[in-house]
Amino acid sequence: MMSDCEKNTIKLRELFKKTSSEVNLRGIIGVTEYKLVYDQLLPVQKKRLVEITDNKHDGFFENGNFISFAYVYPNGIVEKIGLKKDGVFDEDAWNTYSRWYAYLNKSLDTTSEKIAERFNGVPIKATASGIVSKLTNVSQYFPTVVSHRVHAELSGIGWRGKNGLIVNPLYSCMIRLSGVVTSAPLIKTQKVKDSCQECNSCIEECSFLKHSDKLDDYREQCRIYINSLGLEAEVCGKCIKACVHSQRFYSKPEQKKKQSLNKVFYTDP
Ligand code: SF4
Ligand code: SF4
Repeated sequence: MMSDCEKNTIKLRELFKKTSSEVNLRGIIGVTEYKLVYDQLLPVQKKRLVEITDNKHDGFFENGNFISFAYVYPNGIVEKIGLKKDGVFDEDAWNTYSRWYAYLNKSLDTTSEKIAERFNGVPIKATASGIVSKLTNVSQYFPTVVSHRVHAELSGIGWRGKNGLIVNPLYSCMIRLSGVVTSAPLIKTQKVKDSCQECNSCIEECSFLKHSDKLDDYREQCRIYINSLGLEAEVCGKCIKACVHSQRFYSKPEQKKKQSLNKVFYTDP
């Protein structure tokens, strides 16, 4: 007989398959413990998570789960990042990526609302958009969000790459993340092995990453650069593109067929 954990996990995967099909995106979903996520957040983000989960935080901390999920950029979109035309950046091409970035965020938020409703949980927004240009330092950004990278790494959506992003074994960094907190019993999915190994493609692509050891916080230089680009969304993405092109790190697509309950689940619309 199936346990509640198994039944809920199957229901969650069915719902995610449906929602990713509705938004016409490939998806990845996993689960980890709420407590593990909370323990690894920066103090300001712990505070933010407690605000978001409100009076449910103590219960989640005792016995809650973080549902972690991602949507994948369609093929060919990340390739538009940083293209040049007549020696200057092709803004139109780069803005194609900006628009997909906005669409993925919107789709993630719609999906997290649906999952939260079904599992009596609390949705966490994909991102706080439109605020980067209003900040005077990147440190002001951290209290406004809960890092999705923490639960994505713990649940096995991907490993933490040298660019600081989550690298999925199948789709590299070509993903955007979101999450839902719930007290529903669910099967936890396994972490994946860090496989950056000797690759340095992202670091070679970005001088801020390359000299991060000499900078106070390379993310502040990144914020200033993103502002200077003035694209439709607050994005750069060159370190994503560099990773996507490091194709030797991807697993074979056959991995997708191994959809056991303790490994992340992949959907394809
Ligand atoms: S987003 Fe751009 S500026 Fe920021 S770390 Fe990546 S490549 Fe560098
Ligand atoms: S480009 Fe290479 S080093 Fe950078 S995150 Fe991707 S796999 Fe890791």
